[in-house]
Amino acid sequence: MADIIIPADLLPTDGRFGCGPSKVRDEQLSFLASLQPGVLGTSHRQAPVKDLVGSVRSGLLDLFRAPEGYEILLANGGATTFWDSAVHSLIERRSQHLTFGEFGAKFAKAAAVAPFLEDPDVRAADAGSRSDALPVAGVDVYAYPHNETSTGVMTEVRRVAGDTGALTVIDATSGAGGIDFDATETDVYYFSPQKNFASDGGLWFALVSPAAIERIERVTSSDRYIPEALNLGVQSRTHARTRR
Ligand SMILES: *Cc1c(COP(=O)(O)O)cnc(C)c1O
Repeated sequence: MADIIIPADLLPTDGRFGCGPSKVRDEQLSFLASLQPGVLGTSHRQAPVKDLVGSVRSGLLDLFRAPEGYEILLANGGATTFWDSAVHSLIERRSQHLTFGEFGAKFAKAAAVAPFLEDPDVRAADAGSRSDALPVAGVDVYAYPHNETSTGVMTEVRRVAGDTGALTVIDATSGAGGIDFDATETDVYYFSPQKNFASDGGLWFALVSPAAIERIERVTSSDRYIPEALNLGVQSRTHARTRR
């Protein structure tokens, strides 16, 4: 292979992967410091932290023009952790995944290796193109990325008209905050904040519909073994509810 040398004047001044992690601005860090000593190093059960989390949740509900009854869930771990949480706490029996790049395929794999789920219906397309969801009887979660970061292929957020109660679940990690969408077309719109939100990683957020909350309550009160850290029921119950 030929040695390719990128001319120095074409190199970005800040040489990070274009899709994130994003640059965290000094102003953000100064704001965090201005909240001290109330926030860092104090209990996450105390008012200063709860109020800050509450304001992030209501800000996200506003940003997404959330319909009545939708909520924001959040927890430690990033989108990758959310896939395992969804496998344990959201998919009832079988999921369908559109895979046309690395990230959609990772969620499909997490569902495929779960011994308590049926094999997922995986609809793959070559990098640079896109597959379409197809209603299939028995599928209770339809999952696809809003923006497949690894290929740059975007989708329109559209509810899949499958079985009654089937949920439409969107990986919005590099879409949320950058591409508009209609929240009524989705049940779970999840993302980690280190891409368009220019924050640090290690957290996930999810806009969830009343139908998704009901599913989480049902699955997490079944006799399936669910590690506490992946139990979305705990996440939806322990936060003071900020709901539309
Ligand atoms: C970056 C990215 C992820 C992984 O996010 P983590 O916070 O690193 O787990 C998942 N899905 C998409 C679409 C992404 O762009």
